[in-house]
Amino acid sequence: MTTTRRLTIAIDGYSSSGKSSMAKQLARTLGYRYVDSGAMYRAVTLAAMRHGAINPDGSVDTDILYPLLPDLHIDFATEHGRQVTLLNGENVESRIRSMEVSAHVSAVAALGAVRQAMVAQQKVYGAEGGIVMDGRDIGTAVFPNADIKVFVNASAETRARRRYLELQAKGDTTTTYAEVLDNVVTRDHIDETRSESPLRRADDAIDLDNSEMTIDEQNQWLMELYDRTISRLQQ
Ligand code: C5P
Repeated sequence: MTTTRRLTIAIDGYSSSGKSSMAKQLARTLGYRYVDSGAMYRAVTLAAMRHGAINPDGSVDTDILYPLLPDLHIDFATEHGRQVTLLNGENVESRIRSMEVSAHVSAVAALGAVRQAMVAQQKVYGAEGGIVMDGRDIGTAVFPNADIKVFVNASAETRARRRYLELQAKGDTTTTYAEVLDNVVTRDHIDETRSESPLRRADDAIDLDNSEMTIDEQNQWLMELYDRTISRLQQ
């Protein structure tokens, strides 16, 4: 009898491209661990805001932030069937999704010391395989040897519309579509142009443009890719 290998699956892409939903669904179907690496950078950003490490001009005061890093423990738990992010044991899931955190996260995530701390933790999560992780640099920096690498994209307008509808569904009636679009475009720019592991498609990644796909269609696309990969690895 052959035991099915537990794969390492990297899903990278632009903000609000729907990569988290598809990554989460695949992990659930396969019984794998799911790690939302963006949530980790968001949790560090929340800690930075709480400690006054974000300057009024949006730059980061690294003298305040860096000494905090060794004491920031970011983890995940399941509550009411949903995965939530814990910052030193506190459930910060809804706080890290706020527009304020979104506005500052890319500046925090561009810092070398922050990336080193997060990437080290992410490698530990994936050490045993059986993991689906989504982010910006998973196929390039975190798991360069991943069994499956997907790079997800959709137009900035499509992504902003999705994010806007999500915020509205959560009861945010103050943020406008224009603000969300501006945040998406700004984050793309910072993520693509930073010097430390910029957002870049891995050379061996498979592209998915899901602008015209439903959630079910993209889940099915990913499941088929998984099935093909498993058959190839077992040959
Ligand atoms: O995935 P999400 O949009 O929640 O990520 C928030 C931010 O965290 C991104 O805009 C990016 O700046 C940063 N990030 C990163 N590397 C990752 C995941 C997220 O730099 N692997």
